[in-house]
Amino acid sequence: MKAPETPTLSAWETGFRGLCPRCGTGKLYRSFLKVTERCDHCGLDLSQEDAGDGAVPFIILIAGTLGVGIGIWVMFAFETGVMTPMLVACPVVAAVVFLLLPRTKGLLIALQYLNKAGDTGVNTFDADS
Ligand SMILES: [Zn+2]
Repeated sequence: MKAPETPTLSAWETGFRGLCPRCGTGKLYRSFLKVTERCDHCGLDLSQEDAGDGAVPFIILIAGTLGVGIGIWVMFAFETGVMTPMLVACPVVAAVVFLLLPRTKGLLIALQYLNKAGDTGVNTFDADS
């Protein structure tokens, strides 16, 4: 099946779900954060596209705010020492990172595709697909 040339799906519908930014059907990742070489549904070349560490600052802000907030709340609500809030906040921060990092990276890759912005400053998506 040939996908349409003009993307009709939003970055939230595709990238945030880990799907190909063009067809919204093929998988974006071959493993946890490794972007696949080519979409297995529409054949979009994804080998040149990678959001790199672009998603990390967003995740640091979200997970850090959540972790510190939970830690402070636990410390003052239950009048504990310093270690208890850390023991409560660390799994929450880890869960947020593992849940949001691939989704945010996929969102950035989909936004690169929709805005025709490649890592190299050129539209690498149109190079051979
Ligand atoms: Zn595709």
